[in-house]
Amino acid sequence: MSEAARIVADNVARVRERIAAAAAAAGRPPESVWLIAVSKYVDAAAARLLVEAGCNDLAESRPQQLWEKAAAAELAGVRWHLVGRLQRNKVRRTLPLVELIHSVHSERLLAEIDHEAALAGLMAQVLLEVNCSGDAAKQGFAADEARRLVDGLAQYSHVEVCGLMTMAALEGGPAVARRNFAALRELRDELSDAAGPGIALAELSMGMSDDFEEAIAEGATMVRIGSLLLEGLPR
Ligand SMILES: *Cc1c(COP(=O)(O)O)cnc(C)c1O
Repeated sequence: MSEAARIVADNVARVRERIAAAAAAAGRPPESVWLIAVSKYVDAAAARLLVEAGCNDLAESRPQQLWEKAAAAELAGVRWHLVGRLQRNKVRRTLPLVELIHSVHSERLLAEIDHEAALAGLMAQVLLEVNCSGDAAKQGFAADEARRLVDGLAQYSHVEVCGLMTMAALEGGPAVARRNFAALRELRDELSDAAGPGIALAELSMGMSDDFEEAIAEGATMVRIGSLLLEGLPR
């Protein structure tokens, strides 16, 4: 094993231990938390080390970088997640490549995804990004907008909304992050009650390198971790 491969394998093992411990502390089985490894900081060759360390779900935040990595031979077989802004003119090319789009932040984008999925004859799986922190710089639905959107979801027959995603406030540390995550969970519970059968909103994508343990305590089913997994690699 190369030095770089060993570093990444150690990082992944440590993060998996911390995920398992946080899950146990919340009375949840470790496999209830899905580790999504964010490969946006590195090239395909380094992202390959994540796969070798057992991470088969990789995420990018820019569509073009996702396209490039998805075409890289060394990353064949990876399940791709898009976690950043998707422009409507990039939906067509992105859809067939991804397992899940975490970052649907407007109804116009949702409608475009539905339209393109229908043309391609596929069912797109998405999460609604919610702005729980109130940071003006963050994208995402306000809680009220999410409520209104979920009321009208039935018209989008080629999109499956699997749950919600958020990013915690940049300021305020773990206590504020935990409140943001709790707010996402509460909104999810409310929306799935209101939505009725057929819309489960089971997934909560929340928690990054600095706050994933708080997110798991509040019910995260997916944590999106980049820096911690790639720490110590020569850049
Ligand atoms: C970059 C990014 C992450 C990973 O952040 P780290 O702090 O490096 O773990 C997670 N989610 C989104 C949306 C990101 O853009």
